[in-house]
Amino acid sequence: MTKTKLLQIGGITDRMRDALAPDFDIDILFDHDDRAEFLAANGADYPAILTNGHWGVPDDVADATPNLKVVSSYGVGYDAIDADAYAARGIKVAHTPDVLNDEVADTFVMLWLAVSRELIPSDRHARSGKWEADGNYPLTRTVQNRRVGILGLGRIGQTIADRCEAFGAEIHYHSRSRKDVAYTYHETAKSCSEAVEVLVAITPGGPETRHMVNAEVLEALGPDGFFINVARGSVCDEAALVEALQHGKIAGAGLDVFEEEPKIPDALKAMDNVVLTPHVASGTHETRQAMGDLVVENLQQWLKDGSVKTPVPECRDL
Ligand code: NDP
Repeated sequence: MTKTKLLQIGGITDRMRDALAPDFDIDILFDHDDRAEFLAANGADYPAILTNGHWGVPDDVADATPNLKVVSSYGVGYDAIDADAYAARGIKVAHTPDVLNDEVADTFVMLWLAVSRELIPSDRHARSGKWEADGNYPLTRTVQNRRVGILGLGRIGQTIADRCEAFGAEIHYHSRSRKDVAYTYHETAKSCSEAVEVLVAITPGGPETRHMVNAEVLEALGPDGFFINVARGSVCDEAALVEALQHGKIAGAGLDVFEEEPKIPDALKAMDNVVLTPHVASGTHETRQAMGDLVVENLQQWLKDGSVKTPVPECRDL
């Protein structure tokens, strides 16, 4: 049986490769030093692309793959893929929603607790001998019974809300549309921020949400407020965030995503009231395996009947 040619962008696990091997003949884009030459000679051979939320489908690859039929992406965020353009061409784009909701919500809780209870400086105090030399660590701020604002009450946003309810939170949210929930809806990010003590961003990235959290929104959060970003770096104006933190306009931040990953501004690294993680919100063995399995399942289903199990919204009606 002839295998279907698949162009792989970014890394995949052995488990994914083994599962795909019987049906797909996989070429790895990054194995080719002269990418332009490789794409010019071979791009038209690929009906299928496997990528991830970080790489998406770069323009040169999109331009060089006229016979593309399906893109299966590892991750729920697909702002690096031009899904509208693909939908217009009848090309199916699949992603990995839902299987990572719990992990990302847990990462929010981890960052919120760490920044509010000062986990990292407190750990440093304990292990450096300062406790013995200087005495007890100062008191910190509770996460109980807070007003929490969620920017983006989608799959993950709702899972975050569930976690927050366990902490006795009063929940506010901003999204494009009002939901049928008992939380307080805000028409704007600024109004949501004004109403709360903890603000979490969990919208998609891309031009529509770029700098949704700007200087005004941070100022509205106020000097006792914490900002947590588990969405995309582009959602927050990083320069405005640094300025707000440096001038005590907000109390602290927990950040998993950055504007120019993997670069993180030195100013953020230098601050004790900031907790940083390197875009690992879904990064556990268990969740990454579930994501990988879904990427494979989407490709296998497409091969079988031309459909995908978890299309992005733009491609749902294809
Ligand atoms: P959903 O599509 O289920 O939810 C997205 C939410 O954002 C919806 O409530 C939507 O509003 C809202 N939203 C979208 N655009 C806007 C806008 N312009 N203004 C205001 N609100 C907006 O997505 P998920 O919950 O599954 O995932 C959300 C995002 O989380 C992903 O796209 C990804 O970027 C990020 N993510 C980050 C990870 C990490 O490693 N840090 C891991 C996984 C995801 P409405 O419902 O009204 O349309």
